[in-house]
Amino acid sequence: MSQTKAYAAQSATSPLAAWDLERREPKPHDVEIEIMYCGVCHSDLHTARNEWHNTIYPVVPGHEIVGRVTRVGEQVKKYKAGDLAGIGCLVDSCRDCDNCKKGLEQYCKNGMVGTYNSKEKNGSGLTYGGYSKRILAHEDFILSISDKLPLEGVAPLLCAGITTYSPLRHWKVGKGDKVGILGLGGLGHMGVKLAVSFGAEVTMLSHSPSKEADAKRLGAHKFVLTSDEKQVQSLNNYFDFILDTVSAEHDYNMYLNMLNTNGNLVCVGAPPTPAQVPAFNLIFQRRSLGGSLIGGIPETQEMLDYCAANNIVSDVEVINIKDINEAYERMLKGDVRYRFVIDMATL
Ligand code: NAP
Ligand code: ZN
Ligand code: ZN
Repeated sequence: MSQTKAYAAQSATSPLAAWDLERREPKPHDVEIEIMYCGVCHSDLHTARNEWHNTIYPVVPGHEIVGRVTRVGEQVKKYKAGDLAGIGCLVDSCRDCDNCKKGLEQYCKNGMVGTYNSKEKNGSGLTYGGYSKRILAHEDFILSISDKLPLEGVAPLLCAGITTYSPLRHWKVGKGDKVGILGLGGLGHMGVKLAVSFGAEVTMLSHSPSKEADAKRLGAHKFVLTSDEKQVQSLNNYFDFILDTVSAEHDYNMYLNMLNTNGNLVCVGAPPTPAQVPAFNLIFQRRSLGGSLIGGIPETQEMLDYCAANNIVSDVEVINIKDINEAYERMLKGDVRYRFVIDMATL
């Protein structure tokens, strides 16, 4: 075991602060990474504050990790010291169930192991995330990172990128589709960039009037303010697909009404409060309400390669780790353009 500097929340109400954690020495299949950048996902905040009622303290959040390989176990073939590498939201799964065999490790029937706030498979301890100097994982859960793009803009692809890429691909969004992206935050801005790159007509659905110009700059064809009843009415039966990235309580029915016949509203945002949806809102127009969780390892690599080939990165504000608590408050206010990323050299 060796000590690693980190930032942790000690309880639901304590701010994040410096904390030293113990990491294992690399096992034969492990890859160890010195973390250069870690994105700040709203899931980090939900978890640090126990909003999903499942946090084990102390918790070290962070699952948008890029850095350089420092050490590898003797059996590792794919990576060597000096390589750029990344870790997203998953560090282990059973590898044996039908989903794991299909590369859908996020839906492992025996429970995937999250990058933080999870129990390790061998029962040896808990996982701690990327608000730290170093991390290690089995080589099967390490992503290869291109040197073509700025690394601080690549880090958020490991969660915000794959969480929007995966449902857009699964529901085959492309040319000829009318797509709504609901919520312009970390996930939402990646949703806009990716859906536009797939050829869809993209409308940004936002409750923040100040984000209109940015939505257009990111590639959205239209911007609709969700508090403007007239604009909302004009979208009745309009979309083929809506990706809902909102982190707080909101009315799903308003957006179901915007779906055309056979349309899909897919939730990736995970507000702690349950949704109320009358069956009638689905029955009429044969609409579907679905959900999607991050993405498996093969699809995450596919997404990273796609972004490298198409020059797609996240728009980021790089912060010092000391400013993480202020960044959380700003994220809650929607004051982030469009992902905070921690420069781990400041830890
Ligand atoms: P974020 O950067 O904070 O963005 C959330 C956006 O939601 C805000 O920018 C805002 O957009 C909108 N919003 C916030 N409060 C609202 C309110 N009261 N009413 C209406 N809209 C509101 O968060 P994020 O990192 O993108 O994460 C979004 C959600 O996805 C979180 O719940 C997170 O836990 C979840 N998540 C899920 C997965 C998955 O696998 N499914 C993966 C990662 C994250 P506007 O200002 O444009 O309205
Ligand atoms: Zn995340
Ligand atoms: Zn499995």
